Amino acid sequence: MHIIRFTVTFSFFLLISAVLCSNALGQWQRMPFQTMGTQAYVELWAEDDKRGKDLLVAVQNEFERINQLMSPYIDSSELSLLNREAADGPVTVSAELYQLLQQAEQLATLSDGAFDISFASVGFSYDYRQHIKPSTELLDTQRPLINYRHIKLLADNQVQFAKAGVKIDLGGIAKGYAVEQAIDLLAEAGVKHALVTAGGDTRLLGDKRGRPWLVAIKHPRKSDDIVAQLPLTNSAISTSGDYERFFIEDGVRYHHILDPKSGQSPSGLMSVTVLGPDTTRTDALSTTLFVMGLERGMAFIEQQTQFEAIFISSEHQLYFSSGLAQ
Ligand code: ADP
Ligand code: MG
Repeated sequence: MHIIRFTVTFSFFLLISAVLCSNALGQWQRMPFQTMGTQAYVELWAEDDKRGKDLLVAVQNEFERINQLMSPYIDSSELSLLNREAADGPVTVSAELYQLLQQAEQLATLSDGAFDISFASVGFSYDYRQHIKPSTELLDTQRPLINYRHIKLLADNQVQFAKAGVKIDLGGIAKGYAVEQAIDLLAEAGVKHALVTAGGDTRLLGDKRGRPWLVAIKHPRKSDDIVAQLPLTNSAISTSGDYERFFIEDGVRYHHILDPKSGQSPSGLMSVTVLGPDTTRTDALSTTLFVMGLERGMAFIEQQTQFEAIFISSEHQLYFSSGLAQ
């Protein structure tokens, strides 16, 4: 009798101390938030409760800082300033924006213009919510304005547009960049396990304490379903789809990814997912591959070391790049 009571008491103490210990060693902290016109989420393992909560807020603030710099909807953003003034003469921007413009230019060159932030010269004539698209006449006038070579990156962080009417938008890269910045901030603060996601861009720092993170690829036509779940650690994954912002008219799906050559939405694919080391590049590459289509996109991604891709065609077929095929 006595022995039994002792055992029960002893195990009770063990249980309490196990709970206390796990609290003392750390806990998962999570926060969903809205930013850059999309849903974002951060999850991290923090050894100190207060510090963890401060880091969640720091991540949200970092997104907002980048949004204030790069949003086309904020009049005071550097991006809006460029769109207003860069056709009239050189405009000085922050080193940070300048460097992102350089990355965009590199990918534009590499992809032979499939990725082109000057798509916005036509892109701003679409309003997916209001079901508005440019008329054939407007499209014909605006299409020649899409050309990444019109964006001159000059010395001393100065930028100039070669033609009046050229507009740029960083919707294909800024979110991935912000996710990457957020992860950098957490890593520098000593965090070892974290996930940051915004829209279709997700970055994992470390693993989920002994097991991989699981990242789902959405079903492009059933918003509550997924087509695959990938176990990932310490890497980036981005998905571009034709189902995020779109409207359908006369059987044609007008969506937010534009082929710079036509000023219209490509139709061969429903989604493209890119895996790689950082979200700045996986974000931009997923948009690029979407524009290129299956055949050209697959050949292109096979040339990029460190990157893999999953294509979902309009016929609901899945295609994997060679590094994933097994
Ligand atoms: P999401 O914003 O849903 O994550 P994507 O990563 O697929 O989507 O990027 C789509 C965005 O990229 C569009 O909303 C637009 O801002 C921008 N974009 C569209 N077409 C191009 C293009 N050809 N080159 C560069 N950016 C583009
Ligand atoms: Mg993208």
